Amino acid sequence: MTTVIILSVVISVVLALSLSIASVLFYVEEDPRLQDVVDMLPNQNCGLCGNPGCKAMAQAILNEDSKLTQCKPGDQDMRDDIKEYLESHPDESGEFVKVKM
Ligand code: SF4
Repeated sequence: MTTVIILSVVISVVLALSLSIASVLFYVEEDPRLQDVVDMLPNQNCGLCGNPGCKAMAQAILNEDSKLTQCKPGDQDMRDDIKEYLESHPDESGEFVKVKM
């Protein structure tokens, strides 16, 4: 019984360390504008824009792959806010997103 407990603890510690190391090795830095754009979208995660959710839509906007009008629940104010935000917030290299309305 004691052996099983010790073995379980050892396996748990090894797995926890493996996950910690993997999270450091495979860390992907996210565009800081992504969450800001997500916050400006309606966050209904309805998929009407053709993306699997608002975060995916925000990423598609940043990638210049989607038009703001694809978000059906979004209104003109939302589109204007996102456009204004992205026109004043370049990426790390100074490039601006060409916002598609
Ligand atoms: S249509 Fe708008 S609210 Fe629905 S998932 Fe796309 S971005 Fe989100």
